[in-house]
Amino acid sequence: MERADRAILSGGCLCGAVRYQVQPPLGEMFLCHCVDCRRWNGSLCAGTVVLKHQLTLPPGTELTWFTSPNSERRARRGFCPTCGSSLFWIPEEGHLVCVAAGSLDQPSGLRPTRHLFVSQQADYWTYADDLPAHPRHRPDPLAWARPPGTPEAVDNA
Ligand SMILES: [Zn+2]
Ligand SMILES: [Zn+2]
Repeated sequence: MERADRAILSGGCLCGAVRYQVQPPLGEMFLCHCVDCRRWNGSLCAGTVVLKHQLTLPPGTELTWFTSPNSERRARRGFCPTCGSSLFWIPEEGHLVCVAAGSLDQPSGLRPTRHLFVSQQADYWTYADDLPAHPRHRPDPLAWARPPGTPEAVDNA
């Protein structure tokens, strides 16, 4: 079985100008329906979370950053300046990076675990799964962000 918590994963944008590597373990994978993710991705955001030091970009990699207008955590969103692929979401404080799951090379080993911000979901969306669906964040907003076995103190944002 391919499991994302063992191997170093790589990923990148559509045009190939941005390539990155992610050290295991990956955090929980979520599906976020918030309006910012929706507009930025063209639909919901499938993302997984790592700590910043787990993400490596080659020196000289160019990304464009955009501050998410409705983010309570004043997050910035990083994308490829050439092809526009949505890649990273980084809150202003803390040590987390959300990586767009769709940008990972396959197999990723990821499985979605929950829906977030379904209060803002598009009206065309229907659920075809039994995953927990939270109106906004899950009750502990950082719990989804911690890789299994990671102490809670690792992120105090
Ligand atoms: Zn690109
Ligand atoms: Zn979102």
